[in-house]
Amino acid sequence: MKTRFRIVPLGTNVADAARESAAAGAPDHTIIVADSPRGYPCRHCLRFAQPGERVILFPYAAVPSDHPYSESGPIFVHAEPCQRYAATNEFPVELRSGRALRAYNSNFDMVDAEVVNGDEPKAVIEKLLQNPEVAFVDARSVTRACYTFRIERS
Ligand SMILES: [Zn+2]
Repeated sequence: MKTRFRIVPLGTNVADAARESAAAGAPDHTIIVADSPRGYPCRHCLRFAQPGERVILFPYAAVPSDHPYSESGPIFVHAEPCQRYAATNEFPVELRSGRALRAYNSNFDMVDAEVVNGDEPKAVIEKLLQNPEVAFVDARSVTRACYTFRIERS
């Protein structure tokens, strides 16, 4: 039996708060103009910002504080409002390469991890979610380890 999953992009409330903080000049929110087509993935629409588009770089705690695996790291969102990724039963096409999938239990402890690189990631996700201990899976960049999006059972 297959485990069904859904992609969970960054919340619109988080993206909007980042835009407000950047507009207010928060020192940990920087506006950057994308200068390459595959270097600036927006965590809200789950597409790469295209050269010339502005993104906000800011820290995001994918694993909250007070846990052994607590982690805050840099992510991008488009500086202009964008549409939250809606095809939540599909792994985002633009982000199939170079992703590490980290599986966590309900206490935010990392219990497994796999790398997907260009192949259909669905089988890897199904395998990770078949472990009943796994509560969710985070997709991260293989090269820079930045949080990209979350995957939950649907
Ligand atoms: Zn976006």
